[in-house]
Amino acid sequence: MRIILLGPPGAGKGTQAERLVKKYQIPHISTGDIFREAIKAGTELGKQAKEYMDRGELVPDELVVSIVKERLTEPDTAKGYLLDGFPRTVAQAEALDATLQEVKTPLNGVINIEVAQEELLERLTGRRVCRSCGATYHIKFNPSTVRSVCDKCGGELYQRDDDTFETVKQRLEVYQQQTKPLIDYYEKKGILYTVNGAQEIDAVFQEIVKFLDKFVQS
Ligand SMILES: [Zn+2]
Repeated sequence: MRIILLGPPGAGKGTQAERLVKKYQIPHISTGDIFREAIKAGTELGKQAKEYMDRGELVPDELVVSIVKERLTEPDTAKGYLLDGFPRTVAQAEALDATLQEVKTPLNGVINIEVAQEELLERLTGRRVCRSCGATYHIKFNPSTVRSVCDKCGGELYQRDDDTFETVKQRLEVYQQQTKPLIDYYEKKGILYTVNGAQEIDAVFQEIVKFLDKFVQS
């Protein structure tokens, strides 16, 4: 099962990824992780990537694709994989397709978890964190018993700068702008499946599995 998972911050992508890799017994390949691994292992590509990162520059598409390619030759990908955070651009998506075509293992599907912006804003801006113990709450979905007070340690709950309305809105807009061309690309290829991420976690998961299982049976 070779899958790409797309979804904005707050859409529950991490939770679905965890469940999918467990169900299909495939590795969860996130670009952040493979970069760290390649750098730690000191591979030639890892060294090159580190030079860009040390200079605070973006790692060029070509190098990103080479590192992903290298990762996809490892034995744990024999039954497939779930890609998360890659590709980010249409150029990367085209390079990935070309690579997979060479080895005759095309992608089975691209899952796009969609949630309305208002709902994402509610989910993300409602987060509160305890200053003392780091416990996390949500003002609507997981509130503390006493407002602004941690249930576990009595510490003060606060909103992280990353979770303020303006920051979240900006992040979501950047995500939409970056991802729209990718979504169009995979839609044209006929392998995009958009799932309504506003449903319960279980319902979202079942819907994704129903879509993917068509590939297992065929
Ligand atoms: Zn606390």
